[in-house]
Order: sequence, then C-alpha cells, then structure tokens
Amino acid sequence: MPFDYVIKRGDTLYRIARQNGIMLRELISANPQFTEIDTIYPGQIIRIPERTLRRYIIQQGDTLYNIGRRFKISLEDLLRANSGLDPRRLRIGTLIVLPPSRGMDVVGPAFPYGYTELREDMGLLKQRYPFLQMEVIGQSVMGKDLLAAKLGRGTRRLHVNAAMHANEWITAAVLMKLFEDCCEAYATGKMLRGRPVGKLLETTSLWVVPMINPDGVELVQEGITPQHPYYAQLLQWNNDSYDFSGWKANIRGVDLNDQFPAHWEEEKERRGVAGPGPRDYPGDAPLTEPEAKALADYTIASNFQMVIALHTQGQEIYYTYRGLEPPESAQWAERFAQVSFYRPVPNIESDAGYKDWFIQEYRRPGFTIESGLGVNPLPVSQFPEIYRQVSEIVLEALES
Ligand SMILES: [Zn+2]
Repeated sequence: MPFDYVIKRGDTLYRIARQNGIMLRELISANPQFTEIDTIYPGQIIRIPERTLRRYIIQQGDTLYNIGRRFKISLEDLLRANSGLDPRRLRIGTLIVLPPSRGMDVVGPAFPYGYTELREDMGLLKQRYPFLQMEVIGQSVMGKDLLAAKLGRGTRRLHVNAAMHANEWITAAVLMKLFEDCCEAYATGKMLRGRPVGKLLETTSLWVVPMINPDGVELVQEGITPQHPYYAQLLQWNNDSYDFSGWKANIRGVDLNDQFPAHWEEEKERRGVAGPGPRDYPGDAPLTEPEAKALADYTIASNFQMVIALHTQGQEIYYTYRGLEPPESAQWAERFAQVSFYRPVPNIESDAGYKDWFIQEYRRPGFTIESGLGVNPLPVSQFPEIYRQVSEIVLEALES
C-alpha cells in the first residue's frame, strides 16, 4: 500500500527510494512536486508508492545463479525475496519474485552521491576486493573520516582526488566508479577501455581520495536545519539563502583549493574575499582547515610521481604553475587532451591550489581537470560522458 512519509534529517530522495526498495524514478513519478535535483527538507511529506514486484516463472535449464546474472540480482537478494525456495531443487513452472536489482556493481548510479554512499561503497569494495588498502587520512571539521584507498603494487605512484569543491560532488561518483572498474580489471585480468590495467598497476599504483570535502558535499545535497552546528553562520555566509547549490567551500566557508602554501598571500589579495562564504575565501592562513591539512600531509608522506585533482566544469586541463612544472607536464597534458578531447590551458593566474603547491614542492607533473560542461552542480545526465573522459585521462596517466 502507498503511504505518506515524513522526511527526516539526512534523507535524500535517492536514499528514501532505496530504503523502500523502489527506484528513484518511481518515487519521483509518485511525487511530481519534486524533481531529482531538488533539496528536500525535514518535515516535508512525501508519498511512497507501492513496490511493483517483478515475477518470473522458472524455465527449463534455469539456476538461481543464471537468473540472478540475467536480472542483475545477487543470489542473497533472490533467496531473501523467496523464502522456502531451495536453490538445488528448482522446479520448472515455479513462480518466484524478482527483488529490485541493486546492480552487480558496488558503485551504482546513486544520485546524489554523498558521504553515506561513499562510506558504504568503500566498505563493499573492501569486502569484494580484499587486496585493496584503505586508510583514514584525517577528519573533516565535523568529524567525518577522510577516506583514501590504494590499488596496485607499482612503485610509481599516481594520486587522484575529487570533490574538493562541495558542489562538484559528481567527481566523487566518477572517481569511485573508475576505482571499482580498476579493482575488477585488476582482479580478473580483463582489459579496461582497451588497456591492460592489471599490468599497468604492477608499474604504477593508484592512490585515491574520492571526497576531500564531505561536510560541504552534505551541505549542498541536504541543506541545513536549525540543528546544524553552523546553522546561523552558514545562513549568514550564504546571504540568508537556504539554497546551497553554489557552495564550494568547506563547512567553515573556506575554499579548500585556496588553502595551499604556494603564494597564498597573493591569492588572498587577488580573491579579495574578506571572510567565509560559498567560495573563494582562502582562510586566515594556509592549511588552517583540517581537510586541506590532511591532504597535504598525505601527499608529503606518499611521494607521488603525479597528481590529478578532479573538478567541474569547463572541459579543460590545467598543468602549469609559474613555470615550475617539469617539461613533461606539457606532454602529459597533450596526451590527456588526445584521449579526452579536453583543452590544455597554460598560464592561468592562480595560486594556492593543490596542484600549484604540488608542482612548486616537487617539480613533478600535477593537474587540475575541469571535467564536464555547464553550471555546477552539473546534471547527473552528464555522468556517463564525464566518466568516459575522466577514465581515459586517468588510465593514460597509469601508462608510464
Ligand atoms: Zn573546483
């Protein structure tokens, strides 16, 4: 039976749909007042439609395993939905229920992709691929663990991070999906996008931090209630608006990509932003924010040969910093451009970014990739295209 549900703190439309075993589009079509990208607020009432269960009649030659593969349902889910069914004694003509597919992949097209999804997916990936190494590299202002993962044995180390800017969270979903695909290719020896990833990872290991700014991502996706510890300040910093879709900073209103000690004072002057806000405030000093500090410490401890920071939007590749980048940076940028059709952009006036600091400190190649095209947050319909382009760049970077 359909029923009304009162939205609670932490809910998103996607999470409500998943908890009730229905598809997001079924939830939206039962509630035309909402669209996929709307922020929902605690206290709002939403109609949960009835689950329409698919049913299936056992055919000759069927096993639960191949039914599961065909409909992308795990064996556990099939058995849970059909209590009393004995998988070793299937009878032709028996009616069974097909529970909703959760996909065979761990990282699903879950939108919005938030910290809850990231944590869950990291745990599931570790279960499925025990050779993965997971690490907590620090905590956000609000105490969330900043998660990192490493794949491969190669001594050449490639680092990729994402979601440093809150409303660019689609990059976290892209990086997680790519990381899962690399894990699968590594485990099975299969090619990924025509490349022998398993072999590449023997030379180059892949180190990812998929969500540097989880508090900010949560703010963009879930908005605020008076219970939020920064409620009054956030409203003031956001010009009394409850719409946080333009928010890039961390929860204290500091832009994390203006926090790194690479001509920080000049960046501060150039930005001319006096105090905390949705974007472009570099803070009171470099590395005052725990998220930026954690990423800097992790970078210092890890001796990366190359770093890539994923942002949106513009379809551009930034690869220089005050002429300090090594000569091969331009060649890499050209290679990335060839596989992604993004445009290499030299000589931008900017300081204090992560890749700026990395280039300055190590004189090794560092990149900011502005993926996708449009107004942030980019629509989820761009996911497949951004995924394809970013994958090509990261896989190219794995080739030494
Ligand atoms: Zn950005």
